Amino acid sequence: MSWEFDHVTLGQRVRFGTGKVAENVAAEVALFDARRVLLVAAEAEDEPARRATADIDVAARCADVRPHVPVDNAHRAREQAVETGADLLLSVGGGSTTGLAKAIALTSGLPIVAVPTTYAGSEATNVWGLTEHARKTTGSDDRVLPATVVYDAELTLSLPVELSVTSGCNALAHCVDSMWAPRTDPIDQALAVEGIRALAAGLRAVGQDPAGVDGRERMLYGAYLAAVAFASAGSGLHHKICHVLGGAYDLPHAATHTAVLPYVLAFNGPHATDAAMRIATAFGGAADADGAVAGLLALYDELGASHALREAGLAEDVIAEAAGLVLPVVPAGNPRPVSEADLTALLTAAWAGRDPTSLRP
Ligand code: NAD
Repeated sequence: MSWEFDHVTLGQRVRFGTGKVAENVAAEVALFDARRVLLVAAEAEDEPARRATADIDVAARCADVRPHVPVDNAHRAREQAVETGADLLLSVGGGSTTGLAKAIALTSGLPIVAVPTTYAGSEATNVWGLTEHARKTTGSDDRVLPATVVYDAELTLSLPVELSVTSGCNALAHCVDSMWAPRTDPIDQALAVEGIRALAAGLRAVGQDPAGVDGRERMLYGAYLAAVAFASAGSGLHHKICHVLGGAYDLPHAATHTAVLPYVLAFNGPHATDAAMRIATAFGGAADADGAVAGLLALYDELGASHALREAGLAEDVIAEAAGLVLPVVPAGNPRPVSEADLTALLTAAWAGRDPTSLRP
């Protein structure tokens, strides 16, 4: 990487405070002088939504949240925003909920205050996604970047441990892929390395004590760094693979990222040795060629995380087709050249949950 780069930092306020969500949301509503708040939160996000809105008036609520934002849901939510006369969108929930608020903002320009309850990180990016006829379209637009993010670790305590683990690994994937994604720069890489450190420590703490806030705070901090790095660096090989798998075969987002990550790291690492060594050190392991994968797998072992794509729901007989779908979207600057046979080998190993180091050159 040359030391000549062009970095854009997206502008948003972050209010971080455990137990302070109601106070921080009320402060934002006052700052925006908002009179008609449209709350976006799924039924399953009732409890965090109730806590986030304890000190404000809500004009209406949209609970019509579905994974990957189907266009029909987006249309209905946009109509509801108009009927409500909304002047502020308050999203409380995971990446799917933030995604629906973004869909409303994309056409209305309404500001979003985002209160994340998972580690997906959508709150810190200007990327939107919509799904129609099983095809997901994404794009970047600063109108969808939440104006403010309010983090409160207590809201993530209700996230089951298994989902906390896969969601945290989704954030780890943002960090790892940011080390070699198309627009990566030294600022993204610094954020990504610190994100890995925070997420690894947070995941371990949550695994040991799911009811403790310490690990949850570290994970939210790490998830934010991960998303900021990812928003600037763009989608690398890992995200391109997961995007294709999620869109074409309707796989669960976080579990898919969790399964694929060790294989992309093992595939790219030997061709991106500086990045691999920094990743290894961030995992607390030896800074050598194999340290990154070893550090990630040791974490998976501790957490009981699965890196078998078959367990995420991928059928074995679509592997060849999936490799063909990924090939045209492989980033041109990927550290290691990628052939269709490489992708088939990667997906086959990941499907079976085989030792990722078998992908070494
Ligand atoms: P999700 O939002 O679908 O949430 C998973 C499940 O957990 C849902 O049933 C949800 O209701 C529930 N849930 C959320 N928070 C909870 C809590 N605190 N307690 C109990 N249950 C809770 O999944 P996700 O992994 O957060 O987000 C995935 C989506 O986000 C995907 O569509 C992905 O494409 C998108 N995403 C977008 C970006 C971006 O930059 N645009 C970045 C990351 C992810």
